[in-house]
Amino acid sequence: MELESILLPGVEAKRPIVIAGPCSAETEEQVMETAKQLASRGIKIFRAGIWKPRTKPGGFEGVGVEGLSWLQEIKKETGMYVSTEVATSKHVDEALKHNIDLLWIGARTSANPFAVQEIADSLRGVDIPVLIKNPVNPDLELWIGALERLHNAGIKRLGAIHRGFSTYDKKIYRNLPQWHIPIELRRRIPNLPIFCDPSHIGGKRELIAPLCQQAMDLNFDGLIIESHCNPDVALSDASQQVTPDILDYILNLLVIRNETQ
Ligand code: PEP
Ligand code: MN
Repeated sequence: MELESILLPGVEAKRPIVIAGPCSAETEEQVMETAKQLASRGIKIFRAGIWKPRTKPGGFEGVGVEGLSWLQEIKKETGMYVSTEVATSKHVDEALKHNIDLLWIGARTSANPFAVQEIADSLRGVDIPVLIKNPVNPDLELWIGALERLHNAGIKRLGAIHRGFSTYDKKIYRNLPQWHIPIELRRRIPNLPIFCDPSHIGGKRELIAPLCQQAMDLNFDGLIIESHCNPDVALSDASQQVTPDILDYILNLLVIRNETQ
């Protein structure tokens, strides 16, 4: 798989590349406040879910298209790059119309080849970075298959996100890390940037720091971490989000032993 290494200009100078922001965009004030706090701590790529795939009906399913204009405002005000999750070709069209800088495909979507193909087809001829989360189940071939579908559609700036694998037993982790799977992905596609998502692996704040350190020790390229200006009242994934201040603290404590620098 031939890949261009630069996901976004100016963010890859040193490990880790950090993407941070709330699980979900809830209000314009919440995303703007969070983004400003993150930008002032040096975070360059903002994340926020606009369309939220919830396990059961009745939960907060995202603000939809309206949230994309909030992300555009964030770009203007803070100079950050902005990213969101897409699950359908309609999402892709809306995100492109609103100049979103980076897209990611969620774990439920990457388990569905029809959905991934639909997204890939709607991105044909578009030059945008796309990160693909592992499928919810520990199926490396399905993960690679999703990457291949995007690559075959001409997407050159591709990356993977390790967010852990679904398990019935959630005693420690919300999603089991099974680190050997992303490690094998790196062996199979050596120049693919790989991010770790400690928020969805751990499911709780206390696990963010140790999971980030493990990811760095395993030479991951980046981290995508959920951060909310007021995590306790978040409408989704409240227990795993950290304030920008705590995020900064966690990142500053990381020991980076970089093999390539
Ligand atoms: C998310 O990033 O908020 C999300 C829904 O993650 P995942 O697809 O990994 O469950
Ligand atoms: Mn989330």
